[in-house]
Order: sequence, then C-alpha cells, then structure tokens
Amino acid sequence: MTETSVSGKLVYKFREGNKGMKALLGGKGANLAEMTTIGLPVPPGFTITTEVCNLYSASCTYPDGLTGQVDEALADLEKDTGKRFGDPQDPLLLSVRSGARASMPGMMDTILNLGLNDTTVAGVVEQTHNPRFAYDCYRRFVSMYGDVVMGCKPEDKDEADPFEVELEKMKQARGAAFDTDLSADDLKELVATFKRVVRGRTGQSFPDDPREQLWGAIGAVFSSWGNDRAIAYRGLYGIPDSWGTAVNVQVMVYGNGGDDSGTGVAFTRDPASGENVFYGEFLVNAQGEDVVSGVRTPRPVVELKAVFPDVFDQLMEVRQTLEHELRDMQDFEFTVERGRLFMLQTRNGKRTGLAAIRIAVDMAEEGLIAPDEALMRVEPEQLEQLLRPIFSPAAKQQAVKEGRVVAKGLPAGPGAATGRVVFNAADAVDWAARGEQVLLLRDFTSPEDIRGMSAAQGILTAQGGMTSHAALVARQMGKVCIVGCQELDIDSAGRSFAAGGAVVREGDWISIDGFTGEVILGQLETRPSEVLQVLLERSMKPEESQTFKYYDDMMKWADARRRLRVRANADQPDQAANAVAFGAQGIGLCRTEHMFFGDESAEGRARIGAMREMILADTAEERERALAKLLPIQREDFTGIFRVMGERHVTIRTLDPPLHEFLPHDAAGQAEVAQQMGVSAETIAAKVDDLHENNPMLGLRGCRLGITFPEITRMQARAILEAACIVKGEGVDVHPEIMIPLVGAKAELADQVAQVNAVAEQVFSERGLRVDFQVGTMIEIPRAALTADEVADVAQFFSFGTNDLTQMTYGISRDDAGKFLPDYLKRDIWPADPFASLDQSGVGQLVQMAVQKGRATRPELTVGICGEHGGDPESVKFCHRVGMDYVSCSPFRLPVARLAAAQAAIEESGELELEK
Ligand code: PEP
Ligand code: MG
Repeated sequence: MTETSVSGKLVYKFREGNKGMKALLGGKGANLAEMTTIGLPVPPGFTITTEVCNLYSASCTYPDGLTGQVDEALADLEKDTGKRFGDPQDPLLLSVRSGARASMPGMMDTILNLGLNDTTVAGVVEQTHNPRFAYDCYRRFVSMYGDVVMGCKPEDKDEADPFEVELEKMKQARGAAFDTDLSADDLKELVATFKRVVRGRTGQSFPDDPREQLWGAIGAVFSSWGNDRAIAYRGLYGIPDSWGTAVNVQVMVYGNGGDDSGTGVAFTRDPASGENVFYGEFLVNAQGEDVVSGVRTPRPVVELKAVFPDVFDQLMEVRQTLEHELRDMQDFEFTVERGRLFMLQTRNGKRTGLAAIRIAVDMAEEGLIAPDEALMRVEPEQLEQLLRPIFSPAAKQQAVKEGRVVAKGLPAGPGAATGRVVFNAADAVDWAARGEQVLLLRDFTSPEDIRGMSAAQGILTAQGGMTSHAALVARQMGKVCIVGCQELDIDSAGRSFAAGGAVVREGDWISIDGFTGEVILGQLETRPSEVLQVLLERSMKPEESQTFKYYDDMMKWADARRRLRVRANADQPDQAANAVAFGAQGIGLCRTEHMFFGDESAEGRARIGAMREMILADTAEERERALAKLLPIQREDFTGIFRVMGERHVTIRTLDPPLHEFLPHDAAGQAEVAQQMGVSAETIAAKVDDLHENNPMLGLRGCRLGITFPEITRMQARAILEAACIVKGEGVDVHPEIMIPLVGAKAELADQVAQVNAVAEQVFSERGLRVDFQVGTMIEIPRAALTADEVADVAQFFSFGTNDLTQMTYGISRDDAGKFLPDYLKRDIWPADPFASLDQSGVGQLVQMAVQKGRATRPELTVGICGEHGGDPESVKFCHRVGMDYVSCSPFRLPVARLAAAQAAIEESGELELEK
C-alpha cells in the first residue's frame, strides 16, 4: 500500500461522530456514533471516512497519515477492551464493514472475526473454554475473507459458493443436519479445507498476520464500492458514484458462543405493512450474517421474550429511544453475548410504499414528526404501490378449492404477481428483455440477484427471513416478494421445483400473493387495489379500507400544502370521472383526435368514417358536409366531459396530428375504407399518397391544419362552445379553454383565435347565452418559447407541450428515440430519458424563459404543462419552481403529482432541514 498526501482527520472513533456526519462517516458510521453518544450499548470501534474511499477508488492509494491514525484508533480499542490485536492469549477480534451515505443493503462487503489465525484461535479457546465456538468463528472468517478479499466466488450462475460446498460435504460426511451439529474438530478441519480452497483457487496462502488481514479487509471494503452489484444498485437508485463508502472497524461481539447468546435484526415497525408493532427476527447461537444472508430461517423477535426476557425488555426500550432520537422507523441489528445486549447498527428501515405512507401518517399523528416531514418521507412514486393490483378474490378462492396453493412462505413484499418461473437472475433479465413476464425463484435471495429482481414481476425464495438483505431490496423496489418458503424443494440445476405434490418447471406459470405468502400454481387473475375499489369502482366503502384511509390522509395533507394545482389529461367522460376521483382540479389536455378513433361498434365506425370523409373531401363544401356529421359527435363528447368536470376548467385542444394518421396505409385497409365510403380504392390510395410527408412530425399538423382548413377549427370551436352552452343551461358554471397546438409564431395563433372568436359570437347569439371561455396555446415549438412575449399578446393561457418541445429542442424523434436511447442511458451520455424526466438544464431554460416572457406581457397568464413530464416527480418540482399554475398528467399519476407538488412547496419554504 502506498500513501499520498490528503491530510486531515481520516479516522473517527465512534464517540467522536454523530448522526449528522453521514456524508463523511457513511450512514452506518454516523449512526453507530450517534448510538454511542446517546448511551446505547455499542461495541467500540472507529470509522475510516468516505474521502479515503474516493482517493482509493481513483488511485488505489491511501492518504498520508492513514496508517498512523488507524494504529492510534486501534490502540484506543485495545485500551477500551483490555485486549490486544494479535495477542496469542486474549486476542482482540474485529469486524470490518462497509457503510455508504445511503444504505445499500448487502451490496458491499463485510468481514467478521478478523484477527484470527492458528495462534490467536488458541487464545480464544483458552478465554472461552469453548473450542467449538473458537473454530466456528475461525472457519467463518476464512470463508468470508477468502470470498471478499481473495475473490473465491462462484464462477458462473449455476455454481454454488465453494465454501458452502465444502461445508455441505462435511455435514453430509458427519450426518449433521445443521452447522451447529458439527464438532470443534470438524470445524478445525474445515478451516484447513477452506485454506486449501483459497490456495487452490488463488495460488496464494491465507494471510496469518492480523495487520495484513486488517489492511486486506479495508482495501476490499473500499473496492466493493466498485463491484458490479453496488454499481447496479447505485444506477437503480440514483446514488452518485462520488459518495464512496466508509469503512467501520468494530470490536466483535458474539452471538454464537452458546445458547445464552444470539443475534437478530429488528424493525421498530413492520416494514411490509407499516403497522406500529415491534417486528424482527433472531437466531439463538448464531452470528449476524446467519440472519441477514438468508441461509437459516430465523424466529420472530416476539419469541425472544420467552428466550431472553431481560434482553427483550431492553430492546423494547431501545425501540422507543431509537425512534425518538432518529425520528424514523429503524432497522437495527443486535447481538446478545452471554445474556448481554449489544447494538451493532441502526439505519432508516427500507419499507414498502404501503408501509412508507402508513408510518409517515402514523408518526405525524403520534406527534413524532410534523405533517410536512410525513410528506417528505414518502417517495411520490411509492404511491403507485397503493394502486397496484391484488388477486381477484374469486380467482383466488377457486385456486384454493382446486388445491393449487402449494406452499406458504413469509410475505416480504405485498401485492399480487403472476409470471413464468425462472431459476436464476441472469435468466430473469434475459426473459424479461424478450417481453416475458417472469417470477424469479431462488433457494435464497442474494444481493447478486439485483438485476434479475428488478426484471422480475415478483421474487420467491425457499430460505431466508423477512430481513434478508435481498428481501429488503425487493421491498424497496416495490416488488411482490415471498421468502423462507421452505416447502419448496428446488432443483436449480434441473430448473424445476416440487411443492405440494406438484412439479413446476422453468417457464411454467405461477402466482404469488405477497400479502399472505401463498404460492399458487397457474396464472391468476388480478384486480384493482383497494384504493381503486374505493375511488373508481366504488365496490368498497372508504371506511372499509385501511389502505384507503392512509392514502386519503396523505393526499389531504399534500393538498393543503401544495401551491401547484393538478389537472388531468383525459379525452373521454369516463377518463374525466377517473381524473376527478384521483383529485384532478381540471382537465389540462383533451386530445380531440383520440375521440375519432372509435371502436368496432357502429358508433365507432361512424366517427372514423366521418373523419375520413372530411379528410378525403376535395372541396370546402364537401369538407363542410363531412364536418357537419362530426359536429354532433364532438358536441356530445364535450357535453359529457363538461358534466363530469362541473366548474373545473377544461382545456380542449383543436386537431393536432397529421391527417394521414386517420387513413389506412395497407391495400386491404384502403379497399375496406373505399367500400365503406363508396369510392374506389385508387381514390383512397391517391389521397394517402397525396398526404404523404417526408417528415410528418414537422409537417401539416397542429395549428397548420386549422390554418389550412379553417372549417376544422370552426367546427371544433362550435362543438366545444355549444356543449358549454348546453351544460351551462343545466346550471353549471363551465370554464372551457380552447387550446391551439404547435404554434410557433403569434400570427398563427392570432389567425386561429379570430376563427374561434367569430364562431363564439355566432353560437352565443344563436343560443341566447354567453359562456366565459379562454383561447390559449401550447408552447411546444422552441420558437414559441423564444417569442413567448409576443405570443402572449393573443394567448390567454400557455400549456407546455414538453413532449414536442423536448423532441424539437433535442432534434430527436419521439417515435424513433427508442433505437438509440437505451445505449445513451447505459453509457451515461444522457442522465435520464428526456421524454420521461424533463431536461431541466436545456429544455427547462426554454420553459422558464417562456413563463417569464409570457407573464411580462400578460401578468394574469395561466401557465401549465400537459406533456408526459407533468406526472414525473422531479419535473413537477421544476414546474413549481418556475412558477407554473398547474401540472396536468394522466389520471393514475395524479396522486404522484399531488405529493410531488407538496414536496416542492416544502422544499421551497426551507422550513425543514432536508437530508440531501
Ligand atoms: C406535447 O407535445 O407535449 C403534448 C402534450 O402534445 P402531444 O403529445 O399530443 O403531441
Ligand atoms: Mg404536442
């Protein structure tokens, strides 16, 4: 190891840090320091900072002075414990663990029992009078170190861990069911075998010198920041590479010294449901990795009351203290060493979307946090989990009756998932890439599986507990997940499993119920979530659903806090009704062209038929005749929408797409249309030809249609305003807004506004009734943004069409970007898909400028967004910051937009100290 010069403090003893130092000490280090400070029983230790990691990652060197600071901290530990590192009589043994600023469960490496060798192990035997214990620690150390530091890992997806293989061989040879059935001599023999495995695989001998071990472990932990699964995890959760990990070196305590010892992982509340109950798991006579790795299935923590009653009482107090001090649900690890409790770590617990919402609402109601904090605790996207499907009760009952429920495990991630079984993560990724819906089945989940977990609909494991690292990851991803399903007899190599008398092979359909833990044969029908049943189907009453109560509380707080209004993109009355149920305060975009794409019914065919007639017309009179057929159809649609929306503002856009989109392009389709319309197939083909454009997205579409064929705009304006008059006549104070698309210059808009206003005067005088309405424009062409001050002369409102604005600013086709976008994202050429999340630094400048210029001309200008970005949390926050009045998104994204808007207001207020 070489050292370079970065000076300053590189090592912090636990008593020198606190919970606010996560950037420097990592989450684990900062919280260990905090627990030490508030007097919880933490074994002493120290943290090497993330700054050291960054230097090490960049140059494989350590800063000057690091060795000295580590030596000093080590001497401090020796003083604290009265033991010496490498002492043959009473050796100090250490754990070396990673700990990044954001928790990345299981993604990086850990080494336990460091400091053991053939000499020091004798010291442990002497101290504990327990040779079995000493050699158990030793064999664990050699296998962990061999794996993590020396790289002895499985070489492909079907290979088992080489140390596990030797352990299994030994168990079989001795007829031992469990690890604990092996004797001290067996374990001693295993240590020698493991060392031979290391030498065989690496050509190197296992290091005996404790200091060499320590530096090997420190280097490996720092390097694990760059391992494949950690990189994948950071990619999924947007964790910057520059954060680095800290290394925590801590005095070992032992849960595997006998039946008066044990280890566990607990949550201060249930991480799956969010219920305020103490929740967790433990194993007697075991080390921490046994619980979290998922190899042994642990016992529920409540049973600890019977096993170690004093420790249980103490833990109940710890639970309160942690929540009180850290003010969030905690996920902590503890060890009981000969009856004495030690806290090994605590962090904010990963939770499902459902639990996140419930915990936030409950904590605010308990007075532990303020409602604003509750709103910041939920990722807007998590609300989507509340809207996810559950199994249809009838289908489920049928499956139960038919005996298709073949196994039951622990429900680690709620929801209903159905898919075809695959047996390893690589296959899950491959199958999903070719469009298959898959369920990933593993013996026990491991952090190596992260990509496969992400690709699968759901995850099912035969072993492991609710707190296994990978189960946590599944929960955070919002995946349906069942773990510890021991009834499954898996043959990974043969790609099949047996359960309940059935044999399921790779590719067979199964379903898993993440609420109950049931594994069901076949593909099961799913149905909407309770929130949807209350809001949309109305098949459940609000008071019958607890899930709905939490959703509703959260939404009420969000609505009280946000300044941005929310509208929906909805084209039909039924969509408008959904939008209102999800809290829409208006319609931000009604795409009238969608109304012409009817179904195969007579009415649907009449719609598209009239439209085609209009397109095929050769003269203005013919076109007027066809438009006269479209008028009542459109009027009826708009009447329906106005009735649903009541007094809420409704923005209806005039025809936007190129006309050829309404005509068939193949010969058979053209012949059919020709027959329907009583013209020759050649006529249709010639018209399609005529309408052909090399670049239709930049062709005759948007306001250019209305300018070329003003009768189209006039018909649509008439339909909208007549519908408005009808509904106003029914006593509703309607607010129609007519929106002209694809405007690039004031004159284009002025032309269309004149058409609309002329029609309005006619309609109002015919009906003897006036309706308050506005005419405005979409801002979706860069030139409109650049000249927004001029455009606002004639526009009463702006709505940003960021789909087109992104397309035209980047100069990339919305429809063709899929060909190269994945490569761009994979290689980080773009940080995100600009069609999904608004490019704030580029397209965002145009948006911001247009808002300012528009308002400079017309201070009362209403400004919104109706591109897809209106439902993306980061984009919603941007819209808030640039001072828009509303965002508009699809009805199902409304809860997400409402929460994101509230978070934007809270962030702007600066009243909360927010963790970055
Ligand atoms: C837009 O361009 O952002 C928009 C909302 O219009 P469309 O997607 O219909 O082109
Ligand atoms: Mg557009």
